[in-house]
Amino acid sequence: MSDRSHVWHPFTQHGLGEHIPLVVRGEGAALFTADGRRIIDAISSWWVTTHGHCHPRIMAAIAAQTQSLDQVIFAGWTHQNAEDLARRLVALAPRPLDYVFYSDSGSTSVEVALKMALGYWANGGEPRHRIAVMRHSYHGDTFGGMSVGERGVFTRAYRPLLFDVTTVPFPHAGAEQETLDALEAACKAGDLAAFIVEPLVLGSGGMLIYGRSVLAQMQAICAKHGVLFIADEVMTGWGRTGPLFACDAAGVVPDIMCLSKGLTGGSLPLAVTLATPAIYEAHYSADRARQFFHSSSYTANPIACAAALANLDVWRDEPVTERIASLIDRQSEGLAQWARAGLLNPRQCGTIIAADFPASGEAGYLADIGPRLKQRFTDEGLLLRPLGNTVYAMPPYCIDEADLAAVHNAVTTAARDWA
Ligand SMILES: *Cc1c(COP(=O)(O)O)cnc(C)c1O
Repeated sequence: MSDRSHVWHPFTQHGLGEHIPLVVRGEGAALFTADGRRIIDAISSWWVTTHGHCHPRIMAAIAAQTQSLDQVIFAGWTHQNAEDLARRLVALAPRPLDYVFYSDSGSTSVEVALKMALGYWANGGEPRHRIAVMRHSYHGDTFGGMSVGERGVFTRAYRPLLFDVTTVPFPHAGAEQETLDALEAACKAGDLAAFIVEPLVLGSGGMLIYGRSVLAQMQAICAKHGVLFIADEVMTGWGRTGPLFACDAAGVVPDIMCLSKGLTGGSLPLAVTLATPAIYEAHYSADRARQFFHSSSYTANPIACAAALANLDVWRDEPVTERIASLIDRQSEGLAQWARAGLLNPRQCGTIIAADFPASGEAGYLADIGPRLKQRFTDEGLLLRPLGNTVYAMPPYCIDEADLAAVHNAVTTAARDWA
């Protein structure tokens, strides 16, 4: 009994007896296990690692920060890292997202966004409580996040407690107008506080990709009706779709924007929710009852902020944009290879490629093929984690030719074997 693990892992069915590798070191695009294996991290450790594991500059910034200030209450107190980071984020984000609220995960950044939107309406004297969402969305695993996300096997046990939302269809190619019409109708109902959406790519929903013009049109519809537009860039931010933020590609300025995952280069947990002056001013008053009622204990943790500042330095000083451009080209070659091997619906947005294994039996997240493929890839030295029958690659931008070719080839071979 004593050598059995006491750890309960996320999204893991321990009853299946799956072997859980022990990771001891990370460097660049690789992880190293206790039993001496080198694993290529083809999904950026669940979409967080942008410049590679243990980037020296980020690690050094963390080490340096630990010598001066570890943590400080952030209600009514501040520190230089938080001030500097907020200023630099505002300069990078679409204007006028001028205010930065700190939290500690993507899910909390979404909770904060929803509460900001509701607070905006409540303080404006016109309380609105309805949120519109897109089919197949994912916004985190807290109750607010689950409520605005896709209902499915993940949420079955909690469903009666999730709040009601208005759902617009996913804008499949050729059916974009249905999405726009549904959003327009939802806006016209008059009780809509906000629309929350993952710009350009729905990640957990199966790497579903839609066009920039739909994103821009959805934002325009919300703006026309005064409905707040929340961009959840937790996954799409930090270059994943090509530009720094997916909204940049569409020239979209959201009212509220959520960032996390790559904010620290993937090194430490940190999140921000950016808001326009209108949202901030709706809470600005001499009346304490109108302040924004939210905090996490580790809000704006100084060490995490130091990591985020170092991440911005890497973006400023290293050829990150060139790395991304090169990765985009190599990924499209890999995707073409996957398509030739018979994978369906090959799709790409920036550095992300995805395609579907022909589903035999149950499709969707619980499709049997997912865990079987995952195990096969792990045995081959690759960290890939298919979403049901959808396989995707989203590596750190530093991945080299040989490692990326290994990722592409492993999926191609698996596709041939499955055919
Ligand atoms: C991962 C993710 C979240 C949740 O972030 P956590 O840090 O895991 O809480 C929210 N929204 C999107 C779009 C995500 O991909």
